[in-house]
Amino acid sequence: MSTVEDFLSATEEQEIVKAIYTAEKETSGEIRVHIEQAENSDAFSRAYEVFHLLKMDNTQARNGVLIYVAVNTKKFVIYGDKGIDAVVPDDFWETTKNSIQAHFKAGNYKQGLIDGVLQAGKQLSAHFPWTHGDVDELPNEISKG
Ligand code: CA
Ligand code: CA
Repeated sequence: MSTVEDFLSATEEQEIVKAIYTAEKETSGEIRVHIEQAENSDAFSRAYEVFHLLKMDNTQARNGVLIYVAVNTKKFVIYGDKGIDAVVPDDFWETTKNSIQAHFKAGNYKQGLIDGVLQAGKQLSAHFPWTHGDVDELPNEISKG
């Protein structure tokens, strides 16, 4: 069973952070990754809780996206703020979800998160393009619970 400490190596973490920087060069949207040992099985409601704990609902355009990962169950949730929900179709996150899922199934967590982050950035850029003077509203570092 994975713990938060051994889920990703320090190098892998840096690669994911780099992917967040890259993704946010194309969109004003803010992407964060949070990993933790889940205490209950309802990953979605926990992701919602973490989203608010990290104050990800404080972005100006309400376009923050959290990729939440429970390291013990390998469950993940992509949770986007209401500014995104308001302008995208219901299946908006399907492709991002599928990229992560395929890699997670193969035990390749780092690549799953990198692809998920880059895919999320690409998806977001269509609706929330990066503009000159964009502010990095939320830290790009991986959050750990
Ligand atoms: Ca930004
Ligand atoms: Ca950011």
